[in-house]
Amino acid sequence: MNPVITQERPRRSGAPASALPEAPRPVQRPGLDDDGRAARSAGRDAVVSARGVSKRYGEGDAAVVALRGADVDLRRGEFTAIMGPSGSGKSTLMHILAGLDRPTAGTIVIDGVEIGGLKDRELTQLRREKIGFIFQSFNLLPTLTAAENIVLPLTIAGRKVDTAWFAELVETVGLGDRLSHRPAALSGGQQQRVAVARALVARPAVLFADEPTGNLDSRSGDEVLSLLRRSADELGQTIIMVTHDAHAASVADRVLFLMDGEVELDRGRMTRSEIYDVMKSLEVAR
Ligand code: ADP
Repeated sequence: MNPVITQERPRRSGAPASALPEAPRPVQRPGLDDDGRAARSAGRDAVVSARGVSKRYGEGDAAVVALRGADVDLRRGEFTAIMGPSGSGKSTLMHILAGLDRPTAGTIVIDGVEIGGLKDRELTQLRREKIGFIFQSFNLLPTLTAAENIVLPLTIAGRKVDTAWFAELVETVGLGDRLSHRPAALSGGQQQRVAVARALVARPAVLFADEPTGNLDSRSGDEVLSLLRRSADELGQTIIMVTHDAHAASVADRVLFLMDGEVELDRGRMTRSEIYDVMKSLEVAR
């Protein structure tokens, strides 16, 4: 079993918090206490569950163990950030939770489906139906307009566009007057907002975001973070975001810290400086 510490927080070490402007605290939602723990312990169901997940790359002396028996439950409607030092296993965990990679050992359940027994084609189908992705590099098609990019997952799947949902999404992401523009005519922040709308258009059970603000200046990054926050609050969207940015993680309801392939800390909402302190102590402890 892997140790999950929920009480102790490592002591401050390193850079002064004063160097780090405080992130705005996320808006309180009914039913959540400061840490969001009340609602969680009340038993919100898990959209994604991982049990005893290990991942080893390579064999013999060259083998690298990226995950060591991680247990994770990601609850419906919750916005979870995954943090940890470089090499701690964040990307590996995200790829495995999203069914993009298979674990060496352990089980993953996505929206009620245990994916270990699925054939590759079935897994692709499940990802298409249940999972949305946002990447650091936006990954929009340059020849398509913003509107065409947004509906692309439906076009590929041969599904109809729900026009009411499309209108709500466009309203939520604030792109009304930019829909006919191609990506090159949009700012980085606008492109990422198109990518968020594209990820949400098929109403995924879970949205995975891999360093979604990594390529953005701080203002555009804030726009995208606030959009993700509103997607959780107003649309009930479950979000899992891998980030190394304490400010980004401070927008989440819950922060998981990985260390050497294990979940080292599982916390509720945290301020940017609290997250920064934990990260410093994990770096020092390596
Ligand atoms: P993080 O996202 O926290 O930086 P990763 O999940 O990328 O961590 O990597 C965890 C460990 O697994 C690291 O030691 C990394 O070098 C190793 N690793 C990741 N992907 C591969 C791969 N395809 N082949 C070999 N080793 C890998």
